[in-house]
Amino acid sequence: MEKDVLKIIQSLAETAQTATEDAYEYVQQKSKNATDAVSEKSAIMRHKLELARLKTEQDRQFADVGRMMFLVRSGKAKNDEPYGDGGKTPQQTIDALFIIAEQYQQQIDAVNAKIAEAKAKADDKNICAACGHECADNDAFCSHCGAKL
Ligand SMILES: [Zn+2]
Repeated sequence: MEKDVLKIIQSLAETAQTATEDAYEYVQQKSKNATDAVSEKSAIMRHKLELARLKTEQDRQFADVGRMMFLVRSGKAKNDEPYGDGGKTPQQTIDALFIIAEQYQQQIDAVNAKIAEAKAKADDKNICAACGHECADNDAFCSHCGAKL
């Protein structure tokens, strides 16, 4: 009789242990998924900040081009005569500004590609709304909790 009680208690203890381990694993997985989602969102936000910075820099080049064209148009500078500190003609200055603007454009394109990639990655994940488990792409039901995906 005592042996049976001991067995039952032992079995209960093992069940409790397994349940605790399952719960621990569940919480870990859920927090990992949440962390992944947050880090992807913050990556997209960082890319967008970088994009805004690059566009501002590029706009500055365009503004300088416009200012130079205005000076030529209003007769304060002549297209084929050096103007300003650099000793460049307005046309040379404008050409140089367009080269810088083009370099910014290449960086803008690269950041836009990174944003598209990060967004596709975030959309791709088949995450269970009920438990947060990351399931395989084609799963119809959660492999962890069985909820419909
Ligand atoms: Zn689930």
